Amino acid sequence: LPTVVLVGRPNVGKSALFNRLIRRREALVYNTPNDHVTRDVREGVAKLGDLRFRVLDSAGLEAEASSGSVLSRTAGMTKKVLEQSRVAVFLIDARDGLQPMDQDVGRWLRKHASGIKTVVVLNKAESLYFTGTLPVAVREAYTLGFGEPIALSAETGLGMTELYDALRPLLEDFVLQYANDDIDEDTTPSDTEESKVPLQLAIVGRPNVGKSTLLNAILQEDRVLVGPEAGLTRDSIRVEFEYEGRTIYLVDTAGWLDRTKKERGPATLSIVQSRKHLMRAHVVALVLDAEEIAKARRTMKHAEVVIARRAIEEGRGLVVIVNKIDLLRGNENSKIYQNVLKAVPEEIQTVIPQVTGIPVVFVSALEGKGRIAVMRQIVETYEKWCMRLPTARLNRWLRKVMSRHSWKDQAAQPKIKYFTQVKARPPTFVAFLSGKNQLSETDIRFLTRSLKEDFDIGGIPIRITQRSVL
Ligand code: GDP
Repeated sequence: LPTVVLVGRPNVGKSALFNRLIRRREALVYNTPNDHVTRDVREGVAKLGDLRFRVLDSAGLEAEASSGSVLSRTAGMTKKVLEQSRVAVFLIDARDGLQPMDQDVGRWLRKHASGIKTVVVLNKAESLYFTGTLPVAVREAYTLGFGEPIALSAETGLGMTELYDALRPLLEDFVLQYANDDIDEDTTPSDTEESKVPLQLAIVGRPNVGKSTLLNAILQEDRVLVGPEAGLTRDSIRVEFEYEGRTIYLVDTAGWLDRTKKERGPATLSIVQSRKHLMRAHVVALVLDAEEIAKARRTMKHAEVVIARRAIEEGRGLVVIVNKIDLLRGNENSKIYQNVLKAVPEEIQTVIPQVTGIPVVFVSALEGKGRIAVMRQIVETYEKWCMRLPTARLNRWLRKVMSRHSWKDQAAQPKIKYFTQVKARPPTFVAFLSGKNQLSETDIRFLTRSLKEDFDIGGIPIRITQRSVL
């Protein structure tokens, strides 16, 4: 297995990330005596999507950095660890920002790890996602010179998809080899192969909301059996279908069909399980039950809210499907029916304020109604998610849009030299700034909103970061 080493000053969360990567698997702790100092290096096998790698939690750099002693004392040991590694994951604390000690670690890595690839990770970023300060932290970390930093939260698991996306191309040659030892056979594609890869769709929802029925309706044949007597085995299900000439691959349908059978009764939605699907899905279809919404006081159950948020935070497309609308039939003019139609989009907007216009579709899977509406929304969401806007067009747009924006303080107005899309899936943009002024949270929100409106890419997560040019 290829080795990935975690480095960084103390308290940046190396152990938290290590633990998350190896999950419940065994960690091997061994002592490396070096210059009369014993240092622990934890080693484990990490599993991240379809990636398997050996991960080392290096305490060497940490001890060295915290004591502020000369590098040479631990250099031998840490160098040895580095030599074994293919990738160094360099953690910094997103909340603290770049510290002098981080700069030291950076210099050290440049000197001793020039042969291996370094990925900078801004850990503890969970609170930054919503305050809008993330772009500032990312911009700062970019100055370390190791390329585009990744923001995540090892503690909560937020952003692990980003780490996956960054590591996958670096560990790719090992993927194929190990892909088959698990049922997770599909992958999130890298940008270059994106056009060849089918749309990966995850249908998630609590048991009994009608996922299987919906799937049957979509497939228009009983390829997926509903009910406890189905007697399906996990590996017999690999659902791939064509919709308007496009191949669509269902992510881990076997998982929830299995679970549905076992768990029929307690109507829970396994957050852990769903999160695994999210990582591999391009579009997540969250199925809700209209009858339950009509009856219950809360529109969405806690787990449903968590999954919906998570999908967006992980940069996936989200389509909300309200099923069993037939059970409210005869009530079309009733308050209940009208409330359900109104309540769901409102609730979605409330729980995911950062993205407007997430599609909500009302269907009756049982009657086979809504197939077209569901599929159209899924494909449309996917296309927006894959959208690439040419730089020239973006910059023409930028000039127009900046003149629309009113700046409170002219002196503090940031100068965007140019604006470019660095990535699709989801669309990710970088604003290159000249001068000292940075984009504020309000500016970024304004740009995000304008992009969405002007290029019709509402309803999906998009990201904007900023960077200085000299
Ligand atoms: P899953 O656990 O999410 O896969 O749910 P199933 O597809 O197994 O459906 C659970 C139950 O809800 C079954 O008895 C279905 O017949 C019923 N059901 C599914 N969709 C609809 C619908 O659109 N309308 C009504 N009335 N019942 C439905």
